[in-house]
Amino acid sequence: MTEADGTVRDRTWLGAYGERVAVDWLRGHGCKVLARNFKGPHRGEVDIIARDGKLLLFVEVKTRRENPLVRPLDAVDKTKQALIERGANAWLKRLTDRDLQAHVVKPSKGQLATQSGFTLPSLQQLGFETTNLLTLGINPGMSGASALFADFKARMAAYHERRDFPARKGPSYLSVHLRFGTVSIRALAAAAWHDAGRGAAVWLSELIWRDFYFMILHHHPRIATQSFRPEYDALVFPNDKARFDAWCEARTGYPLVDAAMRQLNQTGYMHNRLRMVVASFLVKDLHIDWRWGERYFAAQLNDFDLAANNGGWQWAASTGCDAQPYFRIFNPVTQSEKFDPKGEFIRKYVPELKGCSERQVHAPWLMNAAQQQAAGTVIGRDYPAPLVDHAAARAVTLELYKRVRAV
Ligand SMILES: Cc1cc2nc3c(=O)[nH]c(=O)nc-3n(C[C@H](O)[C@H](O)[C@H](O)COP(=O)(O)OP(=O)(O)OC[C@H]3O[C@@H](n4cnc5c(N)ncnc54)[C@H](O)[C@@H]3O)c2cc1C
Repeated sequence: MTEADGTVRDRTWLGAYGERVAVDWLRGHGCKVLARNFKGPHRGEVDIIARDGKLLLFVEVKTRRENPLVRPLDAVDKTKQALIERGANAWLKRLTDRDLQAHVVKPSKGQLATQSGFTLPSLQQLGFETTNLLTLGINPGMSGASALFADFKARMAAYHERRDFPARKGPSYLSVHLRFGTVSIRALAAAAWHDAGRGAAVWLSELIWRDFYFMILHHHPRIATQSFRPEYDALVFPNDKARFDAWCEARTGYPLVDAAMRQLNQTGYMHNRLRMVVASFLVKDLHIDWRWGERYFAAQLNDFDLAANNGGWQWAASTGCDAQPYFRIFNPVTQSEKFDPKGEFIRKYVPELKGCSERQVHAPWLMNAAQQQAAGTVIGRDYPAPLVDHAAARAVTLELYKRVRAV
């Protein structure tokens, strides 16, 4: 891999991938690949040696790390890695001014090889369908991202106070742009870094979680299917399919959880606080394997990113690196009272509960018959009764985790 200054080479990151693509391409064009990672007198200069008929080809693969902020410690020594894995905060401490510099991109259009007999497959052939992002409220492209960031910059100072309240315009909503590269992570981080306010500092620490999860996935690719903390792979979840379907279809009877799942199903986005709440609920109230929820999110989220999604799910399930402890189990009612105190977010997505008071809307099953009548919602008919009892479910979870930890 060639870095911004054109010198640093990194074989463990995109470099290795780029090399593989180049090898496949050469083979597909009738070349014989003779050697990779050539370790001769020109070591470090030649990635692939191939033969095209009588012609000997020396191929240098140039790739560029654009997506993460900080290098994922390619040739990391064990102690350093252990230190970083202590948590995202330690990762934040590694950030330097150099990481925030824009990469100098040399125009290379005129230097690319011209190809004959090779057509790129169309998006339709790759299985994509035409859609209209504007109907989802996504303003696409770099212009869309910069308009969004301009709007957020004016609100950044209050980020730390507003970000946890889904009914308020607190976060940046930039995740889909970060996911698809229509905004520069370095430009965003630099703006936060050079802002002395508390809101900017907290936002920067959130951007760092993204990098942190990239790094964890980079060093531990097995987490794509397994727990970061291997002892938790022994967890036996009952995985009741009917409960899982109720969660996906926003029929759990817990208003904040259902409102959040409707936001996801209708818009392809879910507020961060709610991602934590619904993930905790699926694993620790419904006792379903975190991988089921991770898969569902992957299919629904417009900002789906393997590293962040896996990191978020393993954080909620307590199986991950720097995760919340297993005994920390969100109470879906108190989370609702705390982060949607007036029930505004709930009413937006669960209009069945519009007639409930600010107090009733968080746990509508507690209304008596007369109150249900007055609210215009009969529990069990207009809105489901709770799928599980939180206190009982919590006790089961503690048992499940304790059993594994005792082994
Ligand atoms: C169960 C679960 C699944 C998640 N899945 C994804 C996913 O597939 N893709 C994704 O981008 N984020 C994911 N997140 C992280 C976070 O919820 C979203 O990044 C955030 O809600 C996006 O909204 P925003 O851009 O307004 O965030 P802001 O609060 O404005 O944050 C700015 C950016 O920082 C990054 N960020 C913030 N929080 C996190 C975090 N906890 N982990 C990693 N990056 C973070 C994102 O790139 C985000 O766009 C997940 C979190 C959880 C708990």
